Amino acid sequence: STFEELGINKDILQGLYSMNFKKPSKIQEKALPLLLANPPANMIAQSQSGTGKTAAFVITILSRLDYTRPHQPQALCLAPSRELARQIEGVVRTIGQFVEGLTIQAAVPGAVERNARLQAMVVVGTPGTVMDLIKRRQFDVSNMKVMCLDEADNMLDQQGLGDQCLRVKQMIPRIDQILLFSATFPDGVMRYAQQFSPSANEIKL
Ligand code: AMP
Repeated sequence: STFEELGINKDILQGLYSMNFKKPSKIQEKALPLLLANPPANMIAQSQSGTGKTAAFVITILSRLDYTRPHQPQALCLAPSRELARQIEGVVRTIGQFVEGLTIQAAVPGAVERNARLQAMVVVGTPGTVMDLIKRRQFDVSNMKVMCLDEADNMLDQQGLGDQCLRVKQMIPRIDQILLFSATFPDGVMRYAQQFSPSANEIKL
């Protein structure tokens, strides 16, 4: 299949082609028809790094945004480390480089000035920093459309991070679509995933 057949918007397509992505990877081929469907589907996906999972959720996020509201946070991606959050931020910037009006911000330790408000459509961060910003009312999550948790297994390996992600989710009044990615699904991770992303489509690569 092709990216065009998936109904991806032309500005996003241009970003994908500029990265030399010629056709969807296996996980993208499986996940994107579900991820881009209306109404939006929740998803729990098993996928290692190197399979193209980041692009899968970045395409989904970019496809769900309301571009008439550039200062309103609408998508949140949580990662278990600031390095991974920065990496995801970079992928959003690259795939989204031709998308007019797109705004992106990282919410990792040290990246957000004291008392400054987050005013980007896409926020990529680590759970503790995101939680603090919401509590301090620097991050308005009342218009969140899509939330993504990356590397859930690594998240749960680190003391407290899984709980922080759940608490962040509970602070958001309404979310249309919740995605969770993990390379492995031992029982504890699967139970967590089903709590985090209820009634999700479960896919495996
Ligand atoms: P990830 O699974 O997100 O760690 O991505 C693995 C690598 O695959 C990254 O270097 C991406 O740039 C690349 N990639 C993702 N999607 C595609 C695609 N459809 N075609 C070619 N390369 C891709």
